[in-house]
Amino acid sequence: MHTSSDLKKIYDKVKNHTGIPTLKKQSIKIRPNTLLVHGLQLGDEGKGKIVDNKIKYFLNKKKINNVYVIRSQGGNNAGHTVEKDGVRLGLHQLPSGIFYDEVTEILDSGMVLNVRDLLDEIEIVENVIGDVSHRLILSQDAMLCTDLQRAKEVLNAQIYSNSKGGTKRGIGPTSAEFYDKTGNIVKDLLNDDWEEKFGKRYDLMDKLFSAYNESLAETDVPDFKETKLQKKALSKKVGSKKIFISRIKEDRARLLKKAITKDTFYFHKDLISNESAAVIFEMAQAVGLDPWFGTWPDRTTTPTTSFGVLSGTKVWKPEFIENKVGIIKATYMSSVGARTMPTEINNDWAKWVRDVAHEYGTTTGRPRDICYLDLPFLLYNIHVTDVDSVGITHLDISRKEDPIKVCVGYKKGTKSVPYKPNMFEFSEITPEYIDLKPWDIKDVENVSDFENLPNEAKTFVNFISDALNLNIAAITTGPDHDAYINFK
Ligand code: GDP
Ligand code: MG
Repeated sequence: MHTSSDLKKIYDKVKNHTGIPTLKKQSIKIRPNTLLVHGLQLGDEGKGKIVDNKIKYFLNKKKINNVYVIRSQGGNNAGHTVEKDGVRLGLHQLPSGIFYDEVTEILDSGMVLNVRDLLDEIEIVENVIGDVSHRLILSQDAMLCTDLQRAKEVLNAQIYSNSKGGTKRGIGPTSAEFYDKTGNIVKDLLNDDWEEKFGKRYDLMDKLFSAYNESLAETDVPDFKETKLQKKALSKKVGSKKIFISRIKEDRARLLKKAITKDTFYFHKDLISNESAAVIFEMAQAVGLDPWFGTWPDRTTTPTTSFGVLSGTKVWKPEFIENKVGIIKATYMSSVGARTMPTEINNDWAKWVRDVAHEYGTTTGRPRDICYLDLPFLLYNIHVTDVDSVGITHLDISRKEDPIKVCVGYKKGTKSVPYKPNMFEFSEITPEYIDLKPWDIKDVENVSDFENLPNEAKTFVNFISDALNLNIAAITTGPDHDAYINFK
């Protein structure tokens, strides 16, 4: 029988078993110098640039020597643009911050990882800025996406013909395999029995295709490298089992050579207590696309709220994070996919916005739909995640002749209705707008001090901050890296 003093010792041992500092009874409540950056709309809000600038601010702090940028969800369906000294890079699986020598990037276990595309992306980046592999850590537990899952996405589209939204990157089918416990992780590729395992996977997928009278080998899947190099969407055939296995073999050899794969779980424990490191969590897709809280029918399959940090790192609770910023485009929102948002517009202003702000997807090149800023939608998204401040991008996008319309409520007939994510009756909803005074793009472009903004832009920013009840974390005033106003 254990005595009560034994139990105290046992309790202490059990308590420390995970090695992860917990909120209660232990010293850590908030881990200083941590920041979550996530989009509050429907993607491509300009998170990449905000992350890039926030890194600089962390590195300017006396005690901070390096910054970790962590991706905990999404995969090659994301695209974010970073720029330094006139060099612009469109990144997909790599987080932002790659330009900084002091940055280490973690591609964590919540990601849907395509190894070939990652290695090609690293190669493209290294051709521009030199060796970065020593600053990359890939979780061995990330969900593994191969050409088979991409082919499955094509098959799904044929069978159900209900998805315009997918990026054909196999993210949905890979996540589905995760849930039905049939999927693979990166580690499976590195294990000795890889050939048997992936050969079997090919056979099973081949059988499924045959059952629908389709050919797996003849199915076209995106060719990431050629698409990037030739700057147009190009595909390749999945090919025979022999071809599939030879590609996997090549990917495996390249990945082993890079030596970036680690067990990130234990790494985080040390990172929490490493006071000289800042940590930024960069979410790839926006809250408006979350699998549970996003707008139907096109949602993504990995969690995009602050919960995605915990599910994708298995360690970092959102409560640990010191600052949580939600990013919005200032004067409008853009959307790709089958969904039609209540505030979508197709007028001359929308056309102007699409052209001047290059509203075409970084990943797919698809023209994005343009919507007026929708406060009911944003307030719901803020409700389902953790944010304490707002980052306002694209403040330059306004022209003198058009007032800025902001949706402040929805009406169904004469009744006011709130936004809800699976609102199938969007077409029956009439948005209620207010008009705010516009400014000219030229008066805001590249302004880097709040005081130098035109009064109309200042009024607009203050209105948004008040309406969302959030402090302002940053404002961007153009695509260039320095078209940026920092707060605090
Ligand atoms: P992310 O996925 O949220 O990181 O955003 P993307 O990089 O996919 O898309 C944002 C696009 O807007 C990129 O082409 C950026 O260069 C551009 N951009 C970022 N900030 C601004 C801004 O303040 N004004 C304008 N006009 N463009 C911006
Ligand atoms: Mg993007």
